[in-house]
Amino acid sequence: MDCSKVGSLISSLRKEKNMTQKEIADRMSISDKTVSKWERGVGCPDVTLLGELSNILGVNIEKILMGDLEEKDTDGGNMKQIQFYVCKSCGNVITSTSEAEISCCGRRLHSLVTQPEDKIHKITVADIDNEHYVTINHPMSKTHYISFVAFVGFDRIIITKLYPEQNAELYIPKTQHGKLYAYCSEHGLWAKGV
Ligand SMILES: [Zn+2]
Ligand SMILES: [Zn+2]
Repeated sequence: MDCSKVGSLISSLRKEKNMTQKEIADRMSISDKTVSKWERGVGCPDVTLLGELSNILGVNIEKILMGDLEEKDTDGGNMKQIQFYVCKSCGNVITSTSEAEISCCGRRLHSLVTQPEDKIHKITVADIDNEHYVTINHPMSKTHYISFVAFVGFDRIIITKLYPEQNAELYIPKTQHGKLYAYCSEHGLWAKGV
């Protein structure tokens, strides 16, 4: 742990929150001299205090330890870099418009890698009036099923959740061109343009 980096991060996060060293110290039942020491890089926070400190400052413990938030360039606001994350423990589905640090159930999630279509992972799209009728001829058992389909246009995303024992079919309004993504609980994510 680089105490001077950690200290300057704590100091800038504290100022962002308009808190004084004493306010931080009071909430943690420690002396404000301790907070001042951290910020000057004279000592690092004790491990037992990191949980509370990360709550107060609103950042991950990991970031405090690194002493750096690693902010990224702005994502430019389009959907071309859309990322999907699925938590294998609880099934949570999360999206972001560019690479992000996401965790669920205590574990870091990695963005899903889009794979090419194959025989059973194939999206069929039929046009019916103003809608795309999307079907996937894929098993829908409890252990192997399509758990969501997402339409990603240039300015929107529509996620349709599917459940085992129903058919893998859905309608999507035909408003713009984009990409369809489907996620199989066993074999991951794949995509097709529409
Ligand atoms: Zn989870
Ligand atoms: Zn599959």
